[in-house]
Amino acid sequence: RKKSGEKRQTRVKVVIRVRPPLTQDNSKICVGTAGNKVEIFNHRNIKENLQYEFSSVFDKSSSQREIFEVCVKPLLGHAIKGENVSIFAYGPTGAGKTYTMLGTEEDPGMIPRVMHTLFQSLPAHCGTAAGPALNAASDHKVSFSFLEIYNEKVQDLLNPSETDLPIREDGNHNIFVAGLTEKVIRSFDDFKHLFGPASKNRTMAATKLNDRSSRSHCIVQLKVDSRRGNQVYHGKIYLIDLAGSEDNRRTGNIGIRLKESGAINKSLFVLGEVVDAINNNLPRIPYRNSKLTRLLQDSIGGSCHAVMITNVSPEESFYYDTYCTLNFATKSRKI
Ligand code: ADP
Ligand code: MG
Repeated sequence: RKKSGEKRQTRVKVVIRVRPPLTQDNSKICVGTAGNKVEIFNHRNIKENLQYEFSSVFDKSSSQREIFEVCVKPLLGHAIKGENVSIFAYGPTGAGKTYTMLGTEEDPGMIPRVMHTLFQSLPAHCGTAAGPALNAASDHKVSFSFLEIYNEKVQDLLNPSETDLPIREDGNHNIFVAGLTEKVIRSFDDFKHLFGPASKNRTMAATKLNDRSSRSHCIVQLKVDSRRGNQVYHGKIYLIDLAGSEDNRRTGNIGIRLKESGAINKSLFVLGEVVDAINNNLPRIPYRNSKLTRLLQDSIGGSCHAVMITNVSPEESFYYDTYCTLNFATKSRKI
């Protein structure tokens, strides 16, 4: 699938999204945007007023549609051509990751928009009644999986009894979760019927286990098989609502050694190192150091296409989180 000898290394694109202020929060605003620049002000200490520059900055008035059109939609064509794609929402809890990825019924986020667009751009017959095989009636097949990484364990959200699935690599360097449920979906409705109940699985677990949803990585995996002529292409799309980055606030400075502290989310920390290594063309990329990055080994870096939508809150009460997040994002997008 991946042409060997190909040395093309695409960078992980890093963009910033500032959510609108929440009316119930009365604190002052400490984030400003102008063009592709973000500024943060510390009303108490002027020395902590800082400016950062990114390839794209989406301010509080930006719409889900705009973010989808600019950051996500262009990647879907690559998946249909058999390349792998990852879309992440990064940022501290409360900054808008879930809003960005999932959104609301009235204002859907990236996940439902990807599903909608895929089924719009693919021919009506996706898969067959019999299931997996591609045949004359089906030029495309989409398989849906839904998983979570919590405490370095991979859990199948379509089969909650599987709580610690292994990640493996096949002879062609394709990474896969052994035993993960994959459901062929043929329409947006198919997606909704699977996704709705599975999301509830996750919410239920979240109330039982304090704070789980902000500490786990929630991952939608789509396999897109397409056939043109007698050529079959296998693409993969990952849509990821990452754990809250406040766990890693002391490591916002990538490079500081991972502390033994259980408070630090290992996968999130290593993701920072991996993105840093890819974007700075370092010779060694530490994919194997965490579950998340191991899973993504065939879907970021190399000839894959990845975008990290970095979410920040505008209120001064989040100053420190925002500061750490912007520092993290600035390192990650370095030329
Ligand atoms: P996170 O998943 O990063 O913890 P959420 O997505 O839950 O954050 O967002 C926190 C709150 O802010 C939620 O009430 C959410 O509805 C609201 N919110 C986030 N982003 C936006 C946005 N772009 N527009 C309107 N409301 C938003
Ligand atoms: Mg969330």
